[in-house]
Amino acid sequence: MSAIKIKSNKKLKGELLQGLYGRGKRMQEMICVYATTFILLANLVILLYNVQKGELVIVAGAVLTGMLTADFLSGLFHWSCDSWGSVHVPLFGPAFIRPFREHHLDPTSITRHDFIETNGDNFMLPLPFLTLLFVHLWRSPHFYLDNTFLVWFTYALALLVAFTNQIHKWSHTYYGLPRWVVLLQDWGVVLGRKHHRVHHVAPHETHFCITTGWLNVPLESLHFWRHLESLITLLTGKKPREDDLMWAK
Ligand SMILES: [Zn+2]
Ligand SMILES: [Zn+2]
Repeated sequence: MSAIKIKSNKKLKGELLQGLYGRGKRMQEMICVYATTFILLANLVILLYNVQKGELVIVAGAVLTGMLTADFLSGLFHWSCDSWGSVHVPLFGPAFIRPFREHHLDPTSITRHDFIETNGDNFMLPLPFLTLLFVHLWRSPHFYLDNTFLVWFTYALALLVAFTNQIHKWSHTYYGLPRWVVLLQDWGVVLGRKHHRVHHVAPHETHFCITTGWLNVPLESLHFWRHLESLITLLTGKKPREDDLMWAK
């Protein structure tokens, strides 16, 4: 196939995928971003009001565990959307699979998305848990004291899940990033630009974790995703990335 034809096929598919981003989806994303921002701030105020100096170790442990869990969940969700199903799966396809498939065709398109389009889906996921956390903290003064680790773990996990795609967007942004973001990337606190490039080599079958990226190397050395794919193929007969292979042809 000629280079021009491959390019025009990619452009066509990219336009088709972008066309699935409708007004209803945009409205849902806006509501999620505003609601989750509010509940994140409300919970933070209560947490900072309650935190004690002697809790530093337990808070650090909870935040670290929350960050690791968020990184693993980002990998699991990304792997699922990259490897299984298609954009034509009812509801889930246009809403969740589409952005990942579009992202492989045009990795820089994410850098042109505004804050709402970048973060709408991820801000939706932790909303029920943050609401539940807020209700418990608000209703009982003992809830924080009795569940300090769980409270900080939940908050850190929710915060990192909410901002995962923003972090992912930064990993594709090579100009104009704020200095503090570059420092976080260089220190390995969030997903690094060089590290994430490994995932963008076709057929996009490694380095799925996109929050901190801490788990990519350990999971690859365990062949974690390959084992999981073999298990699913064994149970369902389906092969991973079949839809992507079909488009490539
Ligand atoms: Zn991907
Ligand atoms: Zn990417």
